[in-house]
Amino acid sequence: MSTIDEIFEWFKTRGSEAYLGEPVSLTEHMLQTALAAERDEAPPTLVAAALLHDLGHLVHELPEDSAERGVDTRHEEVGFDFLARRFIDAAVEPVRLHVAAKRYLCAVDQAYLAQLSPASLLSLELQGGPYDAAELAAFRANPYHADAVRLRHYDDIAKESGLQTPGLEHYRRFLERALRPDYRRSE
Ligand code: FE
Repeated sequence: MSTIDEIFEWFKTRGSEAYLGEPVSLTEHMLQTALAAERDEAPPTLVAAALLHDLGHLVHELPEDSAERGVDTRHEEVGFDFLARRFIDAAVEPVRLHVAAKRYLCAVDQAYLAQLSPASLLSLELQGGPYDAAELAAFRANPYHADAVRLRHYDDIAKESGLQTPGLEHYRRFLERALRPDYRRSE
């Protein structure tokens, strides 16, 4: 099975679970995030990142990693490792940084901080709170930080119950463009 077919299979088998207490499923949430990126005329690799950004929530066990990593594995990291071997940095780094982007935005944008829900404020505290000056500088040094902030905004609005979106197949070409050339050849 190709990487993209494998990923679509996870969407179909695991994606009907609710997205963190929101009125959408995980698959709906990720399709809405990708649609927000498309409507914003994001580069194809960022649309791919938007579709994939919560893959770690979707995939509870990845065959090649799960045994050695054990039960305490952070799903986000498992998802990231899987993606990083298969997709180019422009698609993977925004995924890796999209939680960090929240801490960044809370430090630089008071309006963003003010509109967070109580649950989101609590998770912000658990994540370490808004960035300090040194953390801001380190975040800005990553060439993909601006894409990660864009992805964060798409992620934040992708919780609309009943919103119609294109299906998974619509996004196949975006994912194909984001595959690592060496990985594509090996499939
Ligand atoms: Fe998300």
